[in-house]
Amino acid sequence: MSIMEELKYKSVSELRKALLNREISAKELVDTSYSRINEVEDKIQAFNSLTKDLAYETAKEVDNKIKSNSDIPLLAGIPIGIKDNMCINGYCTTASSKILENFVPPYDATVVKKLKENLIPIIGKTNLDEFAMGSSTENSAFKKTTNPWNPNKVPGGSSGGSAACVSAGEAVISLGSDTGGSIRLPASFCGIVGLKPTYGRVSRFGLIAFASSLDQIGPFGRCVEDVALTLQAISGHDPSDSTSINQPVPDYTAGLKKDIKGLKIGVISELLGDGIDNDVKSSIQASIKQFENLGAEIEEISLPLNKYAIATYYIIATAEASANLARYDGVKYGYRTKDPENIMEMYAKTRAEGFGDEVKRRIMLGTYALSSGYYDAYYKKAQQVRALIRRDFEKAWEKVDLLISPTCPSTAFEFGSKVDDPLSMYLMDIATITANLAGIPGISLPCGMDSNNLPIGLQMLGPVLSEETLLRTAYQFEQSTDFHKINPNI
Ligand code: GLN
Repeated sequence: MSIMEELKYKSVSELRKALLNREISAKELVDTSYSRINEVEDKIQAFNSLTKDLAYETAKEVDNKIKSNSDIPLLAGIPIGIKDNMCINGYCTTASSKILENFVPPYDATVVKKLKENLIPIIGKTNLDEFAMGSSTENSAFKKTTNPWNPNKVPGGSSGGSAACVSAGEAVISLGSDTGGSIRLPASFCGIVGLKPTYGRVSRFGLIAFASSLDQIGPFGRCVEDVALTLQAISGHDPSDSTSINQPVPDYTAGLKKDIKGLKIGVISELLGDGIDNDVKSSIQASIKQFENLGAEIEEISLPLNKYAIATYYIIATAEASANLARYDGVKYGYRTKDPENIMEMYAKTRAEGFGDEVKRRIMLGTYALSSGYYDAYYKKAQQVRALIRRDFEKAWEKVDLLISPTCPSTAFEFGSKVDDPLSMYLMDIATITANLAGIPGISLPCGMDSNNLPIGLQMLGPVLSEETLLRTAYQFEQSTDFHKINPNI
């Protein structure tokens, strides 16, 4: 077996052991990632660009430290992919939009700074739905990322590239962003673990904004421990992000092995009824039994406002997007139309040519919701419902420690099957969106396969800053099942 074959689905702790025992160098690990990319990227199309200089520079630093017997951070040398909406100084950052096609940021996002400090080699920028708007990655202006489990299916979105590259063994871990489900949904479709942290746990500085009150960066990995380690590396207070939480970061791996006896888990009743595929439903029911076997107490919990989540989200998210995207006018960033007659035409044509259909749809919806005369009826009302959704959760936490549901009503769908029907695409986020509206953390992890051999995702939600409990519960579930051991055959 080639070294590449041996390494492609290894966990962080296994790779770290090999690094410290000098069975492999950090440079060879990066080589391994790039040869895997060479091997499968034609099919997967997970990356918008590769950042080879940066990756090898970091690997060299790791190898020098190992040679001189210096300590290295926990994730040093572990190849990571990052979503192409996070800025790296000197490397193209596009948000998969034509309007930013050649944009090279002059600074690092805080998460990128942290990856560099932790000596984690960034191997490339991953594909996404344009400006993170979508659930399938089909809205990218550049390419079509495929699901490693089945090339006819979408990888989920909007962080489809980040999920696919980890699932396909091109990177060990990756970062995505989640505004309404964009980490959890693709994690579910690609059969890996994805975590959306509490709003403010991870700095948004240098993340290209979609909807600022909902956006949050988080990790993907093939197992819970890898996700816990990655979250550890990127979390923390950041004075450059005024919404960042100023509280110490706990050791996310320390408690993983503690059992979950007596933990109270609520099953969201609204998310196990109509509209959920049968295979998904039965996997979740089997998971509930598994949690009982592990000693958890299960109770049904109703979140009556769940039915307003999508409508609320699509007013708030589009309103914020319309404001955030006003900056792309052909003057300050990226693309500008050729030979405009005057400045108004320059603005109009730049935006008409630079943005894709979904982005335009959202700018129009958001502008409408914020316009005078409609503001109270739509935006203000949505903010009120948002407060009630948050209260729904507060009430639930009086009874249970965590809530579970499917991550998505279905498994990965066919390319093209929802692009002409935005509403059916929006419905993919029915289970994930409330966490963003309430600012709480959520994780998706593999819990089964459907009859077409596509992965099924289990979602767990917890109160603000309950990441440790979420990770521990996910770890205990994972270790008692085999789903994380199955890899796609590519
Ligand atoms: N699918 C949702 C949307 O299209 C969520 C996207 C996201 O989380 N970035 O807005």
